[in-house]
Amino acid sequence: MALKTVEEVTMSSAPNDALRAELIAKKRELSERLERINANLRRTYNSDSKEMAKELEDSEVVDALGNEALEEIAKISAALIRLDNGRYGICSVCAEPIEADRMKVYPYADECIDCARYDERVRARN
Ligand SMILES: [Zn+2]
Repeated sequence: MALKTVEEVTMSSAPNDALRAELIAKKRELSERLERINANLRRTYNSDSKEMAKELEDSEVVDALGNEALEEIAKISAALIRLDNGRYGICSVCAEPIEADRMKVYPYADECIDCARYDERVRARN
């Protein structure tokens, strides 16, 4: 029988729902972290203590953390879009399915291991 039953279709979409919920939860967690980071930054900039230089130094570290969180949020948003258009788990470079093990560790990966490694080599060279 070629046609899927309703049960089969529902069952096959259920893991995606769990995944979507997981991605959204992770995104929310990162947004909250980002808010805390931004609150810390504001406090630093508003401060007029003698330790301003030291605090500015700290704020650069905080800034880097904020950028990291922003980058992750962007990746998760992209993964959610791929989930919607059926491209989730497909390498954006070579269009091959991304290894299941990799998706487990890195649920918003958009490149297979081979392409990611290739990217790293290119970046390392530059
Ligand atoms: Zn690939």
